[in-house]
Formats: sequence, C-alpha cells, structure tokens
Amino acid sequence: MANSNSKPDDTKIKDGLGRYKPIKRPSADIDNPLVKMLDSIVNGLEQSMGKRTYLCGNPDCGTLIIFHKNEQRPLVCHKCGSEIDWEGEYISRIKVCPKCSKEYDTNANYCPFHSPPVSLLEKEVEK
Ligand SMILES: [Zn+2]
Ligand SMILES: [Zn+2]
Repeated sequence: MANSNSKPDDTKIKDGLGRYKPIKRPSADIDNPLVKMLDSIVNGLEQSMGKRTYLCGNPDCGTLIIFHKNEQRPLVCHKCGSEIDWEGEYISRIKVCPKCSKEYDTNANYCPFHSPPVSLLEKEVEK
C-alpha cells in the first residue's frame, strides 16, 4: 500500500495556486431575522463607506478580503496567494469589433456590419 502513496499531492500547487471567484460575505444563511437585519444594515453601511468585504474563494482558505473601493483591488489572496477572479463582480467580459469598436456579448463571434466578416476580440472591462 505504501508504494503508490509516495508522491505528495502538491503538484496542483506547483504552477500557481489557481484562480478562484471571491465569495460575497456570508449573510443569507442566518436564521435569526434580527441578526439578518443587523447584518444587512452593517453591510449597507460598509457599502456606503466604500468598504468591500469578500471571502477568498479558495475552499482551503476562505480568509476575509477587505478593501476600499477607492483603493486598488487585490489581485491575489494575501493569505494563500491564489488569484482572485473578479469576473462577474467587477470585471465583465465583452467582445469588441477591431474595425468599428462596437461592443457585443461574449456569445457573438463576428461583427455583423462588415463583409467579409470580422472576428470579434474578447476584452475584459471594469464594471
Ligand atoms: Zn486565500
Ligand atoms: Zn464592426
């Protein structure tokens, strides 16, 4: 039994720790309506003060990631070093025509206004 287990499973950690979507501060699964209400007030206050609170999306980490909206958004988790995938939260993916700069959904492949068709380029934009 010992011969096959000789390799530690740190192979997935080798090239980067992966990329995880951040988790919004947990608040939904609380049963107490008062706690729920307080939590939403605190959340609202933090939001209005520009404070953003997330949890690291790495299931082995889950540390708090707090930053101010006027400050630079963290790109990796300060605890585990995994990349934070802000797509959907602050970054959305669009497609852009390189010829006329019109913007399309990511499911579009060609700009309909040119013949021969022009392939759209994928682009990440800040929300
Ligand atoms: Zn982390
Ligand atoms: Zn075009």
